[in-house]
Parts: sequence; structure tokens; C-alpha cells
Amino acid sequence: MGLQSGALLRRAVDLILPHQCAACREIVEGGGMLCGACWRQTPFVTGLVCDGCGVPLPGECGDTVHCDECLAHPPAWDHGRAATIYRDVARRLVLGLKHGDRLDLVGPASEWMARAAQPLLRPETIVVPVPVHRWRLIRRRYNQAALLGRGLARRCGLDWHPDALVRARSTGSQDHKSREERFANVSGAIEVNPRRARALAGRDVLLVDDVMTSGATLTACTEALRQASAASVSVVVLARAARDA
Ligand SMILES: [Zn+2]
Ligand SMILES: [Zn+2]
Repeated sequence: MGLQSGALLRRAVDLILPHQCAACREIVEGGGMLCGACWRQTPFVTGLVCDGCGVPLPGECGDTVHCDECLAHPPAWDHGRAATIYRDVARRLVLGLKHGDRLDLVGPASEWMARAAQPLLRPETIVVPVPVHRWRLIRRRYNQAALLGRGLARRCGLDWHPDALVRARSTGSQDHKSREERFANVSGAIEVNPRRARALAGRDVLLVDDVMTSGATLTACTEALRQASAASVSVVVLARAARDA
């Protein structure tokens, strides 16, 4: 309903009005998503990356490597990628998507995520978003992880299961909690939707979220997917909050 007609309207407006930078709303020549200044201030992840969380690492592309944090706390999932590092313009875009109703960011963001996730994708991969609790969904009206996942699935021609995971209970905010508190807070809070369990068994799953911080929520999702016998679980996020960034 609303989303689709919104996209149509935007396409119509695009024909009349010039493009605006997704971050600062400056007019962009040539239909780019970001103006030159914002592009340069967006910490896109390129080159060799940590196979667990997607942070850039020094070295030659092609090696499978892990950052110090992933070596200290090996992720529950198999492989992880991030389109950007959570700072500067990338942080502003994430917050705009989360709190600012900036649904116009879904298109460019899901394209960046599709590019980052490309090495992890197989034709039969299922895309599954990190779920939000329904109370939060009512307040916020949309789940930004679901919108990003849908955009990515469409772009890559993959199966898309928006309701594969559900929040069994509300976990509140993860802000201002230690790593251990975050893991304890979400442990067991996410379950596979019983109606989707059969569709997940034996499949490669790509979990999608906007930000990876401690990875506690993604861990809870991964554990639920493994209980449903997913063949593999990979993760892609729009932005990785790197401790040393
Ligand atoms: Zn800009
Ligand atoms: Zn890592």
C-alpha cells in the first residue's frame, strides 16, 4: 500500500525535480545518491575485510581473516559483511532510517549492502531480517531491517522471508549496556516463526540488520535459525560499529 505508492510518487517527482543527496539534501548532478562531499565522508568498507563482522583489515583481498574482536569472541554466524563503518555520514544515514522516517534511504542502502554481501550469496539463499517487537513496530510503523532486506532480496533475486523470525519478548533498548548485558538481554528473545520453520530447514540464510554493535541480537537470531536447521547463517549490516573506528 503506502510504500509502493510512495515509491511511485517519488519516481514521478524525480522526473520533475533534480536529485538530492541522501545525506545532506544538496542537489546532486547526474542522479547520484550522495553528493561528492558526503560520498567522501561515508566510510564505505572496501578491500580485505574480517570474515566475521566485515570491518576492513590490512592485507591482500582473497585471504580469509578475522579481526581481533572476532578472534576474541568468535561470531555465532558463519560469515559477516558490512557496507559501511558506523560513523560520519554512515551514522547519520542509519539514524535517519531508524528514527527519521527516511525511507528514501532504503534504495541506496540496500544496494550498498547487496554489494558487500555478494561474496556470501548463493542462488538459493533466503534473506531474513532481524525482527522488531510488535509494540515497537506499532510505534515506529516500519522495521528498517525488513525494508533493507527486502531491497537487497529484490536486487539480488533472492527469496525473502520477512516473518521467519519473531521476538518472543520485548527486550527494550540495548543502548548503555555492556557487552555481557546485551547478550543476556536478548538471549532466547528471538524465535523462528513456527509457520516458517520448514522453509528454513537446510537453507542458507542471510540475516539482515541496520547496525552491528556487540552482535548480541544477531547471535540470538543465528541461534534460532540454527535450531530450525538452517544450513548456514551469514550476516550483512548497513553499518558496523567498530570499536577502534
Ligand atoms: Zn551530501
Ligand atoms: Zn570481525
